[in-house]
Order: sequence, then C-alpha cells, then structure tokens
Amino acid sequence: MAMKLAGRLALVTGGGSGIGRAVCVRLARDGASVAVADLSADAAAATVGLLPAELPGQRHAALAVDVGDKASVQAMLARLQEQAGEPPSVSVSAAGIIRDQMLLRMDEEAFDQVIRVNLKGTFLVTQAVAQSLVSARAASGSIINIGSIVGKVGNMGQCNYSASKAGVEGLTKSTAKELARFGIRCNAVLPGFIETPMTAGIPPKVMEKLIAAVPMRRMGTPEEVADVCAFLASDDSRYITGVSLEVTGGLFL
Ligand code: NAD
Repeated sequence: MAMKLAGRLALVTGGGSGIGRAVCVRLARDGASVAVADLSADAAAATVGLLPAELPGQRHAALAVDVGDKASVQAMLARLQEQAGEPPSVSVSAAGIIRDQMLLRMDEEAFDQVIRVNLKGTFLVTQAVAQSLVSARAASGSIINIGSIVGKVGNMGQCNYSASKAGVEGLTKSTAKELARFGIRCNAVLPGFIETPMTAGIPPKVMEKLIAAVPMRRMGTPEEVADVCAFLASDDSRYITGVSLEVTGGLFL
C-alpha cells in the first residue's frame, strides 16, 4: 500500500480503544506519525505499542487528555507541538461515551456528561487544532470528526447521545465553511453499529434485532471505519469538505 500520509502528523483522540485505535493503526500504516490521545494514558500507550514505524522520522506518541476540558486539550496540543515541532495536519476526534437511558428517566448528569465529551470535546479539539494550523500558516489540514448514524435518525435510549452526534455534524459543516479558505478540510464519519467495547454491552437479543435492520446483515469492524478516515485524511479526498460519510452497511437507507 502506498504511504499516502508519509511526513504527516496525525492526532487521534479516543485512540486508546475501538475505532480510535484502528484509526491510529491505519494512519501509521499509511506513513503518518501518530499522536494517540486518550483519557486513559495506559490505553494510549498500549495503542502506540501496536503501531508500525517503518519510515525514517516516523514517531508515535501517547498523550493523556480529557477532551471535555479546555485546559487539558490545550496542554495536550502544546506538548505535542513541542515534541513534534509542528501542529498535527490530520486530526481525528473519536473520543466518545454513552450514558443510555430512556428520555422519561434520564437524569441531567447523564445528558451533560455525554454532551461534554462527545460534542464539547469535539469542538475543543477542532478549535485548538484549527488555531494551531492557522497560526503556523500550514499549507493544509484535514479534520475528521466521528459522529454517528443515530445523530441523523435517533435511537431509543440515546436522546443524549444522538443529540451530541447531531451536534457533531452541524459543528463539522460550519467548521468546513469557515476553514476552507485556510486550506483546512473538515468532514464527519457516521458509523452504524461497529464491534467495539462501546457496543459489547448490548444484550445478544437486542443485537440480533439491530443486525436484522442492517442490509449487509452484520456489524461493521473498527477497521472499516478507519479505512474511511484514512481516505478523508489523505489527498485522495482533497476536494471533499463538509460532508458526512456513512459507514453503516446500508442501515437506515
Ligand atoms: P470505545 O469506548 O471503544 O472508545 C472510546 C475511547 O474514548 C476510549 O478509549 C475512552 O477512554 C476515550 N474517551 C472517553 N472519554 C474521553 C475523554 N473525556 N477524553 C479523551 N478520551 C476519552 O468506543 P468506540 O466504539 O471506539 O467509539 C469511538 C467513537 O465512535 C465514539 O465517538 C463513538 O460515539 C463513535 N461511534 C461508535 C459506534 C459503535 O458502534 N461502536 C457507532 C457510531 C459512532
């Protein structure tokens, strides 16, 4: 496979698990130096241990961050820029949480926590990366935000999560309009049901019903989402900005 991201620095939040980890592996295989950022420093370090580094100068780093906290995001990015000597020209926001409950019983805390990590966290990372690219007068950048198909269609028990993911899409489209003049593209990837620790707790009977609604009759893998992120990160997608790419096996067509 061609090293389409050789010489690029990529930041991946939520890189310690699931989709974020698969994105780190794919971007590193494509030649990028990858900064794996996660709430869990141990999980981020474990991901770094999985990453190939075949090119001269290709170096990976593990960084602890709470994406919902502005000071934490800024400190993480400052550390990365100090280590690498440049801002990341690829940024993938994959950090996310669920706190599922039916609307009638959902407490304010479960709503606030999900909005804080999934939506505000994506805003804080997108803003900090964009600011660093614009100040460095970088030639180009690709910001990729992981939303969810349920942000478009809703899901029982996930009014907080689906609201956060609908927000991620709106944030991404507005950001794309604002940043195009700086050569920075911003796109969203909307996964359907993907096999990760986040979905591991779904009871088998519920999962059977969910899969029956997927035209391709199976869950997706984190690697299948990572492949789409690699396309959006690379120059192969150089005329694409402000879109949401659904990676769902045809769900909710
Ligand atoms: P996961 O639980 O396997 O991984 C999420 C990662 O985010 C974890 O490593 C966790 O430590 C990290 N994280 C949580 N809070 C954080 C914070 N405050 N700061 C930094 N890191 C934090 O989940 P996943 O399934 O890989 O999900 C990745 C992204 O994909 C999420 O945004 C999720 O909403 C989205 N998504 C997942 C699915 C799915 O079916 N798995 C579907 C649609 C969208």
